[in-house]
Amino acid sequence: MNTGINAAAIIGGGVIGGGWVARFLLMGIDVNVYDPDPQAERKITEVLNNARRSLPDLYEHRLPVEGTLVFSDSIEAAVANVDWVSECVPERLELKQKVLNEVQLHCSSSTIVSSSTSGFKPSELQQGSTRPEQIIVAHPFNPVYLIPLVELVGDAETTQNAKQILSKLGCFPLVVRKEIDAHIADRLLEAVWREGLWLVKDGIATTQEIDDAISYGFGLRWAQMGLFETYRIAGGEAGMAHFIKQFGPALEWPWTKLMDVPELSDSLVQTIADQSDAHSGKHSIRELERIRDDNLVAMMRSLKATNWGAGELLNTMDKQLSADAHEAGSYLTTINRTIPSSWTDYNGHMNDSRYSEVFSVASDEVMQSIGANADYIEGGMSYFTVDMHITYNQECHHGDAITVATRIANGQGKKLKLEHAMRNEQGELLASCDQLLIHVDLEARKSCLPLEAVAIELSKLADQHQSLGKPY
Ligand code: NAD
Repeated sequence: MNTGINAAAIIGGGVIGGGWVARFLLMGIDVNVYDPDPQAERKITEVLNNARRSLPDLYEHRLPVEGTLVFSDSIEAAVANVDWVSECVPERLELKQKVLNEVQLHCSSSTIVSSSTSGFKPSELQQGSTRPEQIIVAHPFNPVYLIPLVELVGDAETTQNAKQILSKLGCFPLVVRKEIDAHIADRLLEAVWREGLWLVKDGIATTQEIDDAISYGFGLRWAQMGLFETYRIAGGEAGMAHFIKQFGPALEWPWTKLMDVPELSDSLVQTIADQSDAHSGKHSIRELERIRDDNLVAMMRSLKATNWGAGELLNTMDKQLSADAHEAGSYLTTINRTIPSSWTDYNGHMNDSRYSEVFSVASDEVMQSIGANADYIEGGMSYFTVDMHITYNQECHHGDAITVATRIANGQGKKLKLEHAMRNEQGELLASCDQLLIHVDLEARKSCLPLEAVAIELSKLADQHQSLGKPY
């Protein structure tokens, strides 16, 4: 996969830096990290392990071969010869300026130098810099390896270059038109956070009740449509203008305490900490991270089916990854992927129905490669499976990498007979499948001969596969 960059440096490997390390590495990019914390390597390795078990679950194709991770002993060593730098040190302006200054001293002038800052503006970060346009904000969201959004703020050309790179890493870069404290998303989150603190301070709700109000309610809506699209629907047929008319006056009522900030007294902090312990203290942070990651993966995967929001982004990324998966050897390589956790069942291995799913997708890939693609189907022609025999040889587990080699055993007339072999990374046979498809006219719902272009492609491939034996 060509991401346009070969190497990145992460300065500061905490929560956010560790997440960037994982996103870059798992997308095949070499990463240098600099962090003076003696615990940095352990912490980054733990974040990386979480990412390794969840990020591949998002896609129907295998991720590129992991990049190489190097722990550098200085900023100078980390940033020499890299195309991208993410500064992820604590949110203190003078520290960020000092670090960015040192980064610029040692990196190439063509390197993109980004800051993960939640709140500072590029103009503040650039103070004292001789190449200010090189420094932009690239503000990600935790966990950086799963949440697609990255807000980009700064010089138009540099942010456009950054946008191209991040898109290839599966991110959703959002260019912020004008610099402003806390960009877009954190301004919204800050409003909700302040209200939450007031509700606890005034004894209206516990931390769990507030979290329930989000995760059982509007949080579900926001994962697939934002504020304005959701309210547009809430306006009913009369639409957005009606919604604003109906609820506009409420803005004048005391529904919000946004102008005031509750004093974060010791007792308020303790109340919040105690309630949070009671709510979530039974899980360690790493356990909570894994629960969060599994839930995020499940939600984003479900949005793939409707090709909406984050799901649409994943489908686009799948196409990019599949371009690599098609480097066919003698047989067609129709599947090259890892097994997501949601495919495993109570026995701890891949459910039998998923084997059928794998072979069904493998036959779709064959259809693609002979030109029986979305346009062909739109034109009223397709292939239907009429017979499928699966032999299960070995268990598959979450995270296993699998490939399917497919042979076209017969491509004459209306018939498309396929033989699939599913193997693991060690080359062991996990399952095999014989599948017969028949070409159909989708309007008449009856079998018919394929159109000429498809028939020619199919017979070309079938001839090549004649001399091969079964793939299993
Ligand atoms: P963190 O405290 O988890 O990590 C900061 C890391 O920087 C630590 O590992 C520390 O050892 C290291 N560090 C300190 N001084 C350094 C130096 N001089 N050189 C190199 N490394 C140094 O903090 P974080 O939550 O990862 O936040 C980092 C940045 O990301 C902040 O600007 C923050 O606003 C932003 N951010 C945080 C979140 C979040 O949810 N935590 C989300 C988006 C953006």
